[in-house]
Amino acid sequence: MSEQIDGRCLCGAVEITLSAPAGWVGACHCSMCRRWSGTVFAGFPAAAETVRVTGQVRTYASSEFAERAFCETCGSHLWVRDRAEGADYDLMPGLFAAARDWPLKSEIYLDEAPAWLRIAGDHKTATREAYLAKNPQFREVRDG
Ligand SMILES: [Zn+2]
Ligand SMILES: [Zn+2]
Repeated sequence: MSEQIDGRCLCGAVEITLSAPAGWVGACHCSMCRRWSGTVFAGFPAAAETVRVTGQVRTYASSEFAERAFCETCGSHLWVRDRAEGADYDLMPGLFAAARDWPLKSEIYLDEAPAWLRIAGDHKTATREAYLAKNPQFREVRDG
């Protein structure tokens, strides 16, 4: 996938253009994503140089190294990103009409998913422990 796509928040004050969209999404049920999203969190990666953002964005430092961004006016969630200069974005697929057609590639913290939610399909899954075994740097910050 390489065609440019456009997205926006609920009120339209924030617009995001991607020059190289991923074409798939990943879901996370960790406690931070549950609280921030209200329920299941889904995102997709984008290299910083492929993302153009206009409008007033506010950020919340959700851990030692990451921030979560939202529209200052309507509160729509926009992305999660390391605060390091030039870090990749993890963008909210709901902002982009084109992303509706993308497949789910992975689902992590599966054992922390709400009882009512089971996502069908043959995407890759990992429990909290399986994910943390491969990504020990998140063990402290995502434990709450
Ligand atoms: Zn907005
Ligand atoms: Zn998460």
